[in-house]
Amino acid sequence: MTASEPLNEVRQKIARACKLAGRNPAGVTLVAISKTRTPEEIGPLVVAGQRVFGENRVQEVQAKWPEILRGGPEFELHLVGQLQSNKAAEAVALFDVIHSLDRPSLIDALARAQAASGKARRYFIQINIGDESQKGGCAIGDLPDLLARARAGQLNVSGLMAVPPAHTEAAPYFALLAKEARDCGLAELSMGMSGDFETAIMLGATHIRVGSALFGSRV
Ligand SMILES: *Cc1c(COP(=O)(O)O)cnc(C)c1O
Repeated sequence: MTASEPLNEVRQKIARACKLAGRNPAGVTLVAISKTRTPEEIGPLVVAGQRVFGENRVQEVQAKWPEILRGGPEFELHLVGQLQSNKAAEAVALFDVIHSLDRPSLIDALARAQAASGKARRYFIQINIGDESQKGGCAIGDLPDLLARARAGQLNVSGLMAVPPAHTEAAPYFALLAKEARDCGLAELSMGMSGDFETAIMLGATHIRVGSALFGSRV
């Protein structure tokens, strides 16, 4: 099976979910999560037209992507992992969209990095939607302050991102994230992974982050 076969399957599932939800498929961006995958694994997706990819480590992108990006300015790279403040400048240089704003110190570091680079990026605030101690993301109650701080720093926050608790029904968490985004007037929702992206689409996801359904399970 070539890698574009899973891509076709995922595209069909997105189309079906959009139809059921009465949504335009153009409103759902498939972010292919290529962390840990080699250029050889990523290549067939590129051939099949996929241009939006997500990674979770700055170093990995620096090592891996120059090869893939050669001559391809139309690629869009998303950072979906936790980010250390001391990597803010590298992150702003590498990524078009950063999904993991979750604390004041990181927002300040990104604001400085963006101002210095002159590159305006797009951002999601990550919410720790299941209130889990081991997970990244801010508490729901911190959202208004973080949003204000990001805007004061000229960071263009377009939406909210979350990873619901594992091994539970994701729908209530997706619905809660959608409500929080509505309440603060944010249009975009980064939610839904390989196991639940159709549910996420039903509940308003604009960005789904899909890895193993495209590349196979990570070992
Ligand atoms: C790895 C990862 C994904 C993709 O997960 P799959 O279950 O492989 O689709 C999505 N979002 C984040 C934040 C991730 O780290």
